[in-house]
Amino acid sequence: MKITEAIFLQSNTEYEKCPKPDKPEYAFIGRSNVGKSSLINTIVQKKGLAKTSQTPGKTQLINHFLIDQKWYLVDLPGYGYAKISKTEREKFESMIHDYLSNRENLLYTFVLVDIRHEPQKIDMEFINRLGEEGIPFCLVFTKADKLSKTAADRNVALYQEKLLETWEEMPQFFVSSSVNGSGREDILHTISDLNQE
Ligand code: GDP
Repeated sequence: MKITEAIFLQSNTEYEKCPKPDKPEYAFIGRSNVGKSSLINTIVQKKGLAKTSQTPGKTQLINHFLIDQKWYLVDLPGYGYAKISKTEREKFESMIHDYLSNRENLLYTFVLVDIRHEPQKIDMEFINRLGEEGIPFCLVFTKADKLSKTAADRNVALYQEKLLETWEEMPQFFVSSSVNGSGREDILHTISDLNQE
């Protein structure tokens, strides 16, 4: 799928205020610094559309982008900051979950994890909750250019092993790099297929 136009629409704290749910929508989420902004910019091929390297925890907003007037790409805030209070974190987590479980046009959520790290508790908890709530999601292993193919495969296998302790099968997954663009085409294919359904 070729993308010719990507427009930032709005930022919200509540799903009720998000744009009218009249187009297929895809959300991107992951821990802060996982490479989410870079991946979004790579996918739409527009540098600076999603801001990279924002101060962790500062932007706790649901950001909507309109792609080719046809679908919404949603940049969700990174989860798991050490530096915010428990109350703030709970508020923020419920905002994300309200959005994920209520947004009627949300077709797929891309959960980003850094390919260099072993499965982290916070990611597993997030993934397990999505599964329990029946929210369709896939995984994106980011920053693949930072590892050799062998090391990358090994880390993906470790993740798979961990997930299979709880799940019957590995969710769909992509391996991506914003440096060399790997994974982009596959992610876009998946979105394009879902857009047709
Ligand atoms: P976000 O906080 O999840 O939005 O993460 P960013 O996109 O801001 O990226 C965090 C840091 O990781 C930045 O310094 C990026 O340049 C770097 N980064 C992001 N994606 C990649 C990637 O695919 N490869 C490499 N080598 N670095 C990346």
